[in-house]
Amino acid sequence: MSMNSVGRPTRAEGDAVAGFASLTGARGLLQDEALIFERNGWGKTGVDLETPSRSSSDLGDLVRSAPIGLPGLSEPEAMRHYVRLSQKNHAIDLALYPLGSCTMKHNPRLNEKVARLPGFADLHPMAPVSTVQGALALMDRLAHWLKTLTGMPAVALSPKAGAHGELCGLLTIKAAHEAKGQGHRRLVLVPTSAHGTNPATAAFVGYNVAEIAQTEDGRVDLADLEAKLTDDVAAIMVTNPNTCGLFERDIIEIARLTHAVGAYFYCDGANFNAIVGRVRPGDLGVDAMHINLHKTFSTPHGGGGPGAGPVVLSEALAPYAPTPWVVSGEDGFRLVEETEAEAADSFGRMVAFHGQMGMFTRAYAYMASHGSDGLRQVAEDAVLNANYIKARLSGAMTAAFPDGPCMHEALFDDRWLEGTGVTTLDFAKAMIDEGFHPMTMYFPLVVHGAMLIEPTETESRQELDRFCDALLALAQAAKAGDADRFKGAPYLAPLRRLDETLAARKPRLAWRPEPTTVAPAPIAAE
Ligand SMILES: *Cc1c(COP(=O)(O)O)cnc(C)c1O
Repeated sequence: MSMNSVGRPTRAEGDAVAGFASLTGARGLLQDEALIFERNGWGKTGVDLETPSRSSSDLGDLVRSAPIGLPGLSEPEAMRHYVRLSQKNHAIDLALYPLGSCTMKHNPRLNEKVARLPGFADLHPMAPVSTVQGALALMDRLAHWLKTLTGMPAVALSPKAGAHGELCGLLTIKAAHEAKGQGHRRLVLVPTSAHGTNPATAAFVGYNVAEIAQTEDGRVDLADLEAKLTDDVAAIMVTNPNTCGLFERDIIEIARLTHAVGAYFYCDGANFNAIVGRVRPGDLGVDAMHINLHKTFSTPHGGGGPGAGPVVLSEALAPYAPTPWVVSGEDGFRLVEETEAEAADSFGRMVAFHGQMGMFTRAYAYMASHGSDGLRQVAEDAVLNANYIKARLSGAMTAAFPDGPCMHEALFDDRWLEGTGVTTLDFAKAMIDEGFHPMTMYFPLVVHGAMLIEPTETESRQELDRFCDALLALAQAAKAGDADRFKGAPYLAPLRRLDETLAARKPRLAWRPEPTTVAPAPIAAE
């Protein structure tokens, strides 16, 4: 049996389920299969093409001397391969996806329908502005909603993910400092519970990063922040609600202290879903905040599609925003693309074109179909669902911050597993056998063995109950001394414990032919 570096089985061999293993490695109707390139159909083709009558080529010695190296599959073979692959993966369309900090919510089909309208889907980014007025109008309306919901006067739509939005925010802040003769500021302050992208972005922009300590109740330690706020600080990056799922009660004071030393307040807005329609970050003193359209505004997430991370900006930062942006004038909409005239202070451009148009259409469809009252209810229901989970599981598992309600996510630590021989990782793997994708594990780092659960508003009470029932049954098994069951889990997944250390240290990201796999016959060039 193949094992990973900590001695857990990686493949479903031998005694998988009560001594049963299939003869072929299949699981139910899910076949065990090789990569599409390893199927060895090199000489075959799935299509009937007539042999070209002329075999000479105008390409001279540029003509290909070996086969192109595509596997020769028929249409059903190719189709089935990809559908089977999709079944080996989890998706929000299959079940609850309780990843904390990630806001994995349902992607409404209405959004998909709107994004596929030919007037949006078939546009080319270089089409003349006069021919794409509808698309520009949509971008303008999306910008209007984002500005209204956040209470901020400007927005840069082009960043393509949350982390890209952080980069946009910090480059804007850097440009603003430089314009004011404050380019010497070298430091960005980040709380210990921050998402890893925050310090990484600050370092990428060339800043030094210092940590702000956390209080016992999971919030920014104001005294520590005050001590570290010197005139060398360019910005602070604070997430609100934070990654412990808690609202930063002192947020207005945090903004005031930051501005008092001439620094800017970057807010990581990945958790905006918890407060959308209820709190406007602009009212809290935020200068820049990214919004993950693939979180709060329900566009597909991760493998489901590209992200989008628009950044809202305060009056002080707006002049330095990246191009392009849309303005409406007497002759309709136009794009500001060059860093001159009205964009003379812009720090430049982050992407080749205008951002993820397909995500803009989906996010706008989501906003328009919910309306402002619907969006407020989203935040309320997301918080209600997280508190329901916190309340149902707190008897069996230890809440990291038991006092008071949480916001949109419920955070547990691993004190309740002490002495059971079961770790957070083992517990998460056992959830897979019960039909539930694990929650976010071991993050935030400030909580030992963290299990961060974010149900979002799109789950029903029945679904939350099924999830809680499964976790409570597992918790009981862990406490009853059944550690072995957890060590071997998952039993029913196509693969079991992959060697994550090896995968991280020596990733194999590209398939390379084994010398024996391909025996290319040279194509005779005349
Ligand atoms: C998701 C997330 C990010 C990064 O967003 P991406 O779109 O994945 O780049 C940053 N901060 C927090 C708190 C997040 O949850």
